[in-house]
Amino acid sequence: MLRALGSSFCMFLLLSSVSFAQSKAPMKALIMDGQNNHGAWPKTTMMVKKYLEDTKRYSVDIARTKYTMQGDDLLAKYPLNDGVVREAKKSAVADPDYIPDFSKYNVVINNFGFGAAPWPEATNVAFEKFVSNGGGLVILHAAENCFGDWEQYNKMIGLGGWGNRTEKNGPYVYLDANEKKVVDNSPGKGGSHGSQHEFSLIVRDAEHPITKGLPKTWLHSKDELYDRLRGPAQNMQILATSFSSKAHGGTDRHEPMIMTIDYGKGRVFHTPMGHADYSMECVGFITVLLRGTDWAATGTVVDTTIPSDFPRIDKSSQRKFD
Ligand SMILES: [Zn+2]
Repeated sequence: MLRALGSSFCMFLLLSSVSFAQSKAPMKALIMDGQNNHGAWPKTTMMVKKYLEDTKRYSVDIARTKYTMQGDDLLAKYPLNDGVVREAKKSAVADPDYIPDFSKYNVVINNFGFGAAPWPEATNVAFEKFVSNGGGLVILHAAENCFGDWEQYNKMIGLGGWGNRTEKNGPYVYLDANEKKVVDNSPGKGGSHGSQHEFSLIVRDAEHPITKGLPKTWLHSKDELYDRLRGPAQNMQILATSFSSKAHGGTDRHEPMIMTIDYGKGRVFHTPMGHADYSMECVGFITVLLRGTDWAATGTVVDTTIPSDFPRIDKSSQRKFD
């Protein structure tokens, strides 16, 4: 009798764990967009959404401003179908009703860009609260160009460029020719880049979950290599860098290319990669995006496999996205 009870209890435990695994709800991610100097933004939002949803770990919502800027030609091709009538503007116009409910999400991905109008103050306050209370945040390429005057945003992203960023926002941070970290307080504008090209990523911290197990060096697809980024850089770790050569109009410094920032209890994953759709087709970018988003959302990386089409030390690799 006892043995029978014991085995049915075991069966109950087994069934419970199976049904938990099967019914485990996906994590909730929110992509914020609508105003970006990069006209590819309606497409790059859809790329990020698909990359995340293809893992089956995420369901992704999009919060888009009702006044949009740039990307007009792509809005019809990548529609939201959320019933909101949007108005395209030549320059950014603030949307007073842009108040996403961050509390529903594990992680927020910012796909705004240079020249974006400020969000409503209530949104800024809710956003700061969301991240500082432990929410995940992902910062891609131009999202480090916007909101230069928002002090807490600059703390979240660690380093930024453009948007009136200067020495008032914090130092330049990079590795010098000897691969030593430099915190440079000299005056000057934050943010520039040379001509677009394929460039290598070099992992500098192979123990962090985002970079653990990745090849030490791999060739990223054509992209803008941001340099001279500056900001508060508090609680920031540089996980990978790229060498910005003067031959391509850069700095001859190793510029931060994958960063993490702790903001309160929140985790921020930040990469300046992702200028265009072709940059985001890079399998290295996709892999790092998924790892970084996992880490921002949960503090760990769920899928640590290296895709068989991951770029090599001297060969980039893309997945075409239509
Ligand atoms: Zn760009």
